[in-house]
Amino acid sequence: MGEREDILADVRERARYYAGLSSLGLAPRPVATPLAPVAAAASAGAPATVGREASSPSVPSAPAGDGPTDLDGVRAWIGDCQRCKLAGGRKTIVFGQGNPKAELMFIGEGPGADEDEQGLAFVGRAGQLLTDIIEKGMKMRRADVFIANVIKCRPPQNRNPEPDEIVACQPFLERQIEVIRPKVLVGLGKFAGQWLLKTAEPISRIRGRVGDYNGIKAIPTWHPAYLLRTPSAKKDVWEDMKLVLQLLSEDR
Ligand code: URA
Repeated sequence: MGEREDILADVRERARYYAGLSSLGLAPRPVATPLAPVAAAASAGAPATVGREASSPSVPSAPAGDGPTDLDGVRAWIGDCQRCKLAGGRKTIVFGQGNPKAELMFIGEGPGADEDEQGLAFVGRAGQLLTDIIEKGMKMRRADVFIANVIKCRPPQNRNPEPDEIVACQPFLERQIEVIRPKVLVGLGKFAGQWLLKTAEPISRIRGRVGDYNGIKAIPTWHPAYLLRTPSAKKDVWEDMKLVLQLLSEDR
């Protein structure tokens, strides 16, 4: 792509992203402040949503009080979620799993068939590759990191998450991150990378860029499913993971 086409594609992508948010009546997220209280993180002031029609997406308000301060509390807050249209098609809510005190947290896109079946994030083929990246590449134990997704329910036919679904699930991921408070966040693929850096720039542009998520270093990289289709991109991920290891070794 030439530079002009590249810029036009970028502008179109941003326009689609912001149109998706504004069609929900939501402004793009403001640049968040460190450890914003969950009431603010829930954003947009939507009323409580438990029990609403699944086809009426909305932003969950925070539970009473200051909100959950541990992962069990976040899971309880999600409950048998019916807040967006994915509820009807899922088998399991895939909360994410790993060390609740992890220094490193990976965020993927959303559960696929294997994850929906087992209730665990990244357990299919892409998950195996992620395990190899963590264990063979980074020489860390998978059990020592935390792995979650931008959305917690499987979209039909593994289609991309839609803006209303991302917005409906967002407060839970925000709270998971606040509770775990890792040193480094890695966004796997376009949706997680854009979500973390609050941008609609293409993943090809933001990959390997160290951004800031509420005071936490955040790095987008290619999604493992993309690596399965494009093994030549593995070298980029290795570069990004070396950077992650360096950031992990630095003082907070
Ligand atoms: N792809 C994702 O983005 N997340 C998973 O949990 C599995 C596959």
